[in-house]
Amino acid sequence: MELYKNMETALQIPWYYLAAADQYEYSIRGSNKSEPLSGVIAIQIKPSKWSGVLNPEPNDQNPLSINFFGGSGLDGNGDGLADRTNDEDLLFTFAKHLLSYGTDDDNIRIALWNYYKRDKAVGIIMGNAQMYKKFNRIDLQEKAFPVPVGTDYTFHSTWGVARGWGGRRSHEGTDIFAHYGLPVRSTCYGIIEMKGWNRFGGWRIGIRDMNNTYHYFAHLNGFTKDLKVGQIVEPGQVIGSVGSTGYGPPGTAGKFPPHLHFGLYKDNGNLEWSFDPYPHLRVWERKDTLKARQ
Ligand SMILES: [Zn+2]
Repeated sequence: MELYKNMETALQIPWYYLAAADQYEYSIRGSNKSEPLSGVIAIQIKPSKWSGVLNPEPNDQNPLSINFFGGSGLDGNGDGLADRTNDEDLLFTFAKHLLSYGTDDDNIRIALWNYYKRDKAVGIIMGNAQMYKKFNRIDLQEKAFPVPVGTDYTFHSTWGVARGWGGRRSHEGTDIFAHYGLPVRSTCYGIIEMKGWNRFGGWRIGIRDMNNTYHYFAHLNGFTKDLKVGQIVEPGQVIGSVGSTGYGPPGTAGKFPPHLHFGLYKDNGNLEWSFDPYPHLRVWERKDTLKARQ
């Protein structure tokens, strides 16, 4: 936070854009293109981009020759070196790229597109930025169990279980069985990315969190009034209620007992895949239970 704030003071670029891009890059680490973290900043700039494509020295740290060869690398901490493994130099260089377009939302969007060449990256970063701006802090990792603890529900690990409807698919999630109308709550700080009907999931909602993980809630009875795509939600905020919708055209319900289907999907910058939410649900349930006792 201090690094971002310093850069905001020095360059007049809102801190939350820098934090948002950094958080995005952090979330896509683990894909094979990433190098190990050298500091706390996760933003990466390729050596050829940093030093200039025609620069004979790919690890050049001399700001003058980098500039001569058209590289982007800059000296952000004033030590005379443009070091692509230094947090301040990296963040300064990245911030200068954004600044060359302007500091309002639209220009930042264009700058990000030119940098990442991926619509999804731009969307995710702008979403992160909105959340940082709204809550004015970086730590937005808190989670919540999707239904109120202490109520009547059951769930088991059902990852990968085969299911019948709609061809051969395996079960990508956990089913929480409960009565119709039990409140369904956001599990995270995030942005509503999807809301509407899907023939498998019925009335469903998708929320993307700060780690670029997509939280999926299906078979809902309905949505909380005025809930909109693009809206920021907090852990525990009611988004809808348990139902049995899905497995057919819009409005189909009652083809199975009421339950919340909850899924988690990870994005690595290129593709999305699902992972087992069950262990996470158990942790969130335990934490909410402890909180309720306090
Ligand atoms: Zn399910």
